[in-house]
Amino acid sequence: MKSLEQELAERRAHHLYRERLVLDSAQATEIRVDGETLLSFCSNDYLGLANHPQVAAAFKAGVDRHGVGAGASHLVTGHSRAHHALEEELADFVGAPRALLFSTGYMANLGIVGALTDRHHVIFEDRLNHASLIDAARLARAKVQRYAHVDVAQLAQRLTSNKQPAFISTDGVFSMDGDIAPLPELYRLASQHYARLLVDDAHGLGVLGKSGRGSLEALNMSWAPPTILMGTLGKALGVFGAFVAAETAVIETLIQRARTYIYTTALPPAVAEAVRASLKIVRTENWRRERLQTLITHFRAGAEQLGFALAPSSTPIQPLIIGDASATVAVSRRLREQGILVPAIRPPTVAEGSSRLRISFSAAHETSHVERLLQALSAIKSV
Ligand code: PMP
Repeated sequence: MKSLEQELAERRAHHLYRERLVLDSAQATEIRVDGETLLSFCSNDYLGLANHPQVAAAFKAGVDRHGVGAGASHLVTGHSRAHHALEEELADFVGAPRALLFSTGYMANLGIVGALTDRHHVIFEDRLNHASLIDAARLARAKVQRYAHVDVAQLAQRLTSNKQPAFISTDGVFSMDGDIAPLPELYRLASQHYARLLVDDAHGLGVLGKSGRGSLEALNMSWAPPTILMGTLGKALGVFGAFVAAETAVIETLIQRARTYIYTTALPPAVAEAVRASLKIVRTENWRRERLQTLITHFRAGAEQLGFALAPSSTPIQPLIIGDASATVAVSRRLREQGILVPAIRPPTVAEGSSRLRISFSAAHETSHVERLLQALSAIKSV
């Protein structure tokens, strides 16, 4: 058996070693790292709310009112008025009867799948689902079948030959590709086969749709059972946490059975107050979504002109697929030399041979930032 040191050395040799940057500034389009100011295209702070003064003020006022820690799990006195109000506001926002807060999106996915499936179920999931959905299926006692990415015909075939209760899970916006799941078709299949459909809209909520209701709104749909919507609060909403929106019976079942809900400390109530403030901005400031679309269109036109192969993504996640891990790391390093931070995403996060730059945009970016990125990419391309 290889020692840990050997394995780490191999990872390094294959350009797969992961390291953390230490930020000396708040999350923003320009961040301080190792004494340098870098233009960042890395964060999921899509609407520029992670350091918004109103959200920060709500956080501080929340601490004054509720203290720092929740002190207990939701079921054992940790559920405050702030949590409760936020759940009602989130349910109203997405148009579902009820919503339930979880501490993170990762935990929400584990909790939902574990509580709503048993050994009689088959979980059907998109091959490119986020790691938390994949782990949720692994941990559940159900059988698991992964269908080819967005391949509705393959899923339909498998559902037709399946005789057991089915459960379907998908990202709304795929986190490393930026494309949107075929939700109308998935909804139709789920309804036909009496299956629940879990949509993880971590990257769609707040960003897509005219009013920010996410992937469903972008596809002219509204929430309806058997859909279970999972949204995160640490990306477009700029804070931390997650929620599940569904009909009352699903939410009540999660409260009874979801282990990642029951056996963990509730979010600090001040976090809930901060999210309430950011949700107000998400609901009212449509210009943030419009600005994002303008930046995305500008980037895609420029990158296409430079001869880059673009992914079919209309979202702020714009991957440039390079293929080889070492080449991807090299491009990311060259961008950094020009003061621009773009992460190199490599296996196992993405498939072997599909390493990529994951460029993500924020409403806080300026057109001039996109121009700088395009110029830097152009300089690299012409070497
Ligand atoms: N689902 C998707 C699609 C994600 O990208 C992420 C975060 N990267 C999560 C779930 C997990 O959310 P959280 O960060 O709140 O745990």
